[in-house]
Amino acid sequence: MHQKTCRAFLLSVFIFLTSTSSISQQNQRRDISYQALEPFQIFDNLYFVGIKAVASYVIKTTEGLVLIDTLDGFDGFTDRLLRNIHSVGLDPNDIKYVLILQSHRDHYGGARQLQMHIDALFGASQEDWEVIAKNLGEDTPRMDIVLEDGGSITLGDTTIHFEHTPGHTLGTTSLRFSVFDEGREHLAYFHGGSALRTDDPEKIQIFIDDLERIRQIPDIEVQIINHHDIHASGADDLFTRAERLKNRSQGAPHPWVAPSEFQQWLNELIADSYERLRQVQ
Ligand SMILES: [Zn+2]
Repeated sequence: MHQKTCRAFLLSVFIFLTSTSSISQQNQRRDISYQALEPFQIFDNLYFVGIKAVASYVIKTTEGLVLIDTLDGFDGFTDRLLRNIHSVGLDPNDIKYVLILQSHRDHYGGARQLQMHIDALFGASQEDWEVIAKNLGEDTPRMDIVLEDGGSITLGDTTIHFEHTPGHTLGTTSLRFSVFDEGREHLAYFHGGSALRTDDPEKIQIFIDDLERIRQIPDIEVQIINHHDIHASGADDLFTRAERLKNRSQGAPHPWVAPSEFQQWLNELIADSYERLRQVQ
């Protein structure tokens, strides 16, 4: 083959291969048979009911359940979510609240379909409700409640505290609540969106200030994450941790109770965010 033709041919092969690999990644993202996972219990009152790409959790209280995030609305996703909740021995009809922590579709896209199955109050921050309404138009889910910065809900024996931690989305909401390991209480923190998605220096500074404030909250021992790979460098990801939990021997520490890993994660995220701030200034 002539050298130029050969180069053009190789280039077209390269373009074909890279485009088909991104198409297959797109397909995997939407394919519930690829995404499905067996759900599992993490604490006495906390269950993972998500899929490979994104988490969803149930908090169990004495007066019903709270679901965190709804997965996307692709074919079969809502059915899988409901099945996962059944599989861990819970009844989706007991869900009293559904909390949406950020306005990216993989976290809220299934909300409207879910509303056809369960009778619960759906909540997000005002800013994120507005983004969701803009994105979905007529298909917007019912917007029952607004999760206020500094607010909380109490259901039975459980109080969940909210705070706004924007930077990933306009109204990202983070949670603080107690989890129990065979009756032993630990304070958990769930950052609703920790990947910075803005180049606005003021917004980056707000994101950092929030992280600095979270770092000062005493006694946080457990980090809850919405994607499997959000963790301190060198620490285990969500699924490796789940394996450790499954194989945990009697009396051994709970793999999620790792306060120094949470502090290290915050420190690394703060350092990365300052670096980003320097780049955009
Ligand atoms: Zn997101």
